Amino acid sequence: MNRMEEMMGIRKRFVGAIAKPEDWEIVEAVHEFVENEIMPRRRDLDGGWHHDEKLAKATFRELHKGLVDLGVQRAFLPEEIGGLGINSTVTMCMVWEEIARGDCGLATHLSIIPWVMGPALIAGRRDLLEIFGRKICDDEPHTACMAITEPQGGANIEDPTLHGRTIRTKATLDGDEWVINGHKIWPSGASIADIVYCTVCTTDPRKGDDGIALIYVPPDAEGLSFGKPIEKMGMCWTDINTEIFYDNVRVPKEYRIAESGKDAKILHAIIAGGRLGTAAIAVGVAQAVFEIVLEYTKEREIAGKAVREHSLHASILADMAIAIETARAYYMQVAWMADHPKIYGRGWTPSRLARASAAKVYACDFAVWVTNKAMELMGAYGYSADGHVEKYLRDCKILQLWLGGAQRARLDVALGYYPFEW
Ligand SMILES: Cc1cc2nc3c(=O)[nH]c(=O)nc-3n(C[C@H](O)[C@H](O)[C@H](O)COP(=O)(O)OP(=O)(O)OC[C@H]3O[C@@H](n4cnc5c(N)ncnc54)[C@H](O)[C@@H]3O)c2cc1C
Repeated sequence: MNRMEEMMGIRKRFVGAIAKPEDWEIVEAVHEFVENEIMPRRRDLDGGWHHDEKLAKATFRELHKGLVDLGVQRAFLPEEIGGLGINSTVTMCMVWEEIARGDCGLATHLSIIPWVMGPALIAGRRDLLEIFGRKICDDEPHTACMAITEPQGGANIEDPTLHGRTIRTKATLDGDEWVINGHKIWPSGASIADIVYCTVCTTDPRKGDDGIALIYVPPDAEGLSFGKPIEKMGMCWTDINTEIFYDNVRVPKEYRIAESGKDAKILHAIIAGGRLGTAAIAVGVAQAVFEIVLEYTKEREIAGKAVREHSLHASILADMAIAIETARAYYMQVAWMADHPKIYGRGWTPSRLARASAAKVYACDFAVWVTNKAMELMGAYGYSADGHVEKYLRDCKILQLWLGGAQRARLDVALGYYPFEW
């Protein structure tokens, strides 16, 4: 057993202590899949050096299907609708970490499904789970979309102290239907989601939190249309982002998740959940890059000695290990808290949002730092597509920026300790 395997064994014993031991089975199955299927093809997800769209899309389809076949897509949905009923945030986060080791965009794509079903689960809406969730539990790959961000700003919509007053997407009740008009930008899965668009609206921005409405919009709803995929730095083919236009989109009034006031709380709970999942994805990226740099600096010599055996470089590698271990330990602690709301509070409480935000900020800042430093230690090879690190760097930068960015997330950490309003 090499030392990396020994570290994995220690982690497994720790997980056995804080999650159900059988949940480790899906983590291990995903780990194997990442090693055998994703790692050898991770560059193809980028389309290779020439960013070949056809190659990237075909690779994505096959790997996505492979993860669906492993049960990842339905793993975290209730058994009553065909899911595997794994009711553990710790396990779910570990699965995202594992997939992200292979590819950050694939992890993002898979994590959106339970994220979008989250509001129905939190509100106990079995009817909505039946309508939208059951389809997810078949054997086909699916996509869902969480539409929060608008052209005039994303962070402000997530800001609990602005109480939804900056939301411009408007939902008006007309008889038994909500009529939605508005404009979103950036949501992952936009234009390709075949399950549902969870749309953050306001019934009246002057009402503040009481006006916030989360509404499930079916992908084929009349009046729903999309812009072209936005060109970006990383996750080019694995995470599709477009504008979304709502032009008098009508949905049954039952598609609103909860009542006035409760939807605002659920919005903050899903933001906390998204930030926690992002922390796990960031740790996966950092772990992958750490493994690459350890291997490279073992073979590469300077002054007749392996790079990693020089004290300057060993110290940087140790800092990487410290960052990864602490970021992982912290996201697992926060996930454990999410699994015990009776002790630690519901997902929308300032203390839970603060901790999820802290986990995200810490893990994402370190993921970017680790990938940058790894590139330094690997010299020109680190910058080459062959070395893989450049792709991880391009892919992971967005983890810092989405869901309110590093600044909004830090403000939410502060809000966990003392209240303030704008
Ligand atoms: C690849 C990708 C995937 C995405 N996926 C989704 C998705 O699935 N769903 C979705 O709805 N959106 C998604 N987004 C959008 C993303 O969540 C937003 O871009 C993000 O929340 C920041 O919003 P913004 O870009 O409008 O920046 P702004 O809101 O304009 O913020 C600009 C800067 O100001 C900071 N800031 C904001 N408010 C404050 C404040 N009060 N005090 C101090 N600083 C502040 C921010 O941290 C940021 O640094 C995605 C974006 C990308 C690029």
